[in-house]
Amino acid sequence: MVGIAMPAPDRGVLARRDEIVAALKAIVPGEGVIDALTEMRPYETDALTAYRQMPLVVVLPETVDQVSRILRYCYENEVKVVPRGAGTSLSGGALPLADGVLMSMMKFNRILDIDFPNRAVIAQPGVTNLGITRAVEHEGFYYAPDPSSQIACSIGGNIAENSGGVHCLKYGLTTNNVLGLEMVLITGEVIRLGGKHMEAEGYDLLALMTGSEGLLGVVTEVTVRILQKPETARAALVGFPTSEDGGRCVADIIAAGIIPGGMEMMDGPAIQAAEDYVNAGYPRDAEALLIVELDGPEAEVDFLLARVEEIARANRAGYLRVSTSEEERLVFWAGRKSAFPAVGRISPDYLCMDGTIPRRELPRVLAGMRELSVKHGLRCANVFHAGDGNLHPLILYDANKPGELEAAEAFGADILRLCVAVGGVLTGEHGVGIEKRDLMPEMFSEDDLKQQQRVKCAFDDKHLLNPGKVFPVLHRCADLGMMHVHKGQLAFPDIPRF
Ligand SMILES: Cc1cc2nc3c(=O)[nH]c(=O)nc-3n(C[C@H](O)[C@H](O)[C@H](O)COP(=O)(O)OP(=O)(O)OC[C@H]3O[C@@H](n4cnc5c(N)ncnc54)[C@H](O)[C@@H]3O)c2cc1C
Repeated sequence: MVGIAMPAPDRGVLARRDEIVAALKAIVPGEGVIDALTEMRPYETDALTAYRQMPLVVVLPETVDQVSRILRYCYENEVKVVPRGAGTSLSGGALPLADGVLMSMMKFNRILDIDFPNRAVIAQPGVTNLGITRAVEHEGFYYAPDPSSQIACSIGGNIAENSGGVHCLKYGLTTNNVLGLEMVLITGEVIRLGGKHMEAEGYDLLALMTGSEGLLGVVTEVTVRILQKPETARAALVGFPTSEDGGRCVADIIAAGIIPGGMEMMDGPAIQAAEDYVNAGYPRDAEALLIVELDGPEAEVDFLLARVEEIARANRAGYLRVSTSEEERLVFWAGRKSAFPAVGRISPDYLCMDGTIPRRELPRVLAGMRELSVKHGLRCANVFHAGDGNLHPLILYDANKPGELEAAEAFGADILRLCVAVGGVLTGEHGVGIEKRDLMPEMFSEDDLKQQQRVKCAFDDKHLLNPGKVFPVLHRCADLGMMHVHKGQLAFPDIPRF
């Protein structure tokens, strides 16, 4: 693997492979354990395909009891575990470890309960994101967070990554739409957090788990909020002569108090690639394209669309077209939703970055990225959730050309540093994984990172769940003061211990 160091495989565990495989087969009978090299090949990477690693063994449990017994076995025998959903992570979160069990949750694929009066769905973690909407749309409901990968990605993976999508500007990310979880800890204990009710007492562990990237436990059940479809949704395509004009327009729309259902932006190279791919009718002469969707009652949508048009014209928009039918609205979105595969057609490889910035900094960051493109000698196409300030620069490279992957990684790191420098953050929705792990100190102090690891230690004191991801340096839990014993004396001896 280029650039990213992973923890060295434990030779003792590698030597015990046959014994570990036999133990897993005793827990999950039939075809639930995959140990043949050729059959494990599909699991060697996720959607960050530049990095590959064969796992020690793959296990596909079907029941919570099996998950619990596998994790307890791994805990007692000090074997690492990498949880996996559909493997669409763009940050390498599901990258296997040579000495780790890869636990695929894709056999947990059932919807358990649809509760329209409480507007909630309970699903197993392997159900796809779109599968939830499909299960409730006949009654006019849907699940709002809509990653572009929604046809494939699992709701468990969405929880682990706190995934977003084009409609999250108005309706929130996964964390704002998850109501409850069942999780199995590395010790095999099963915990339940939240539920169909609104608030739970105590610490907000539900929020902690959302975005925990498979480092704190394995999600075995998810309760999510569903929403009623808005009465009307119409989208406007707005073309600008420069990205800076588009960026200013985004900031002005939000500053005017308008929260569109979605507000996405694409730059020149992305417009051309998407148009070649799906023929969505995008203006090829525009340097930036905004898709602004307004939803709600018809009169409100008409009013707000007129306001958006005014703001767009004031920001030098040269092209403006509003969808006149549901079919046309979906065509407008088709180009944006297939922007990644579209870009895949114009370059042998690409790295999809994910940084978030304050909206007002869009023009400055777009200009900065153009300079970085020249500095690193690589092209970049930009697709982003503009309303959220969440950028997805796609860095185009050819892995077969020596040095290009390294240049792409350096370019990507510079983009993320720029995001942090203007007051933004390293990730918006794709997670840290291995991709942004070594950049964490750009954003967090040593003390910040240590405190985050103390939380990790509270759930996984042996660092067996997905190690090598998220944290650039692993500290032993004892070194972090977890259970500090001074001269044989426990701190706070008066506190009852269990
Ligand atoms: C073409 C494309 C478009 C995309 N568009 C978007 C987008 O618009 N928005 C967005 O947010 N993301 C997007 N993604 C990224 C990706 O789809 C999301 O991160 C998604 O949530 C990953 O889900 P998954 O089931 O594939 O998880 P995986 O890739 O299998 O795993 C991701 C992480 O979750 C952990 N995990 C998985 N299941 C569990 C579980 N049951 N319990 C505990 N941990 C678990 C894994 O350990 C890993 O750390 C896109 C990806 C692709 C390839």
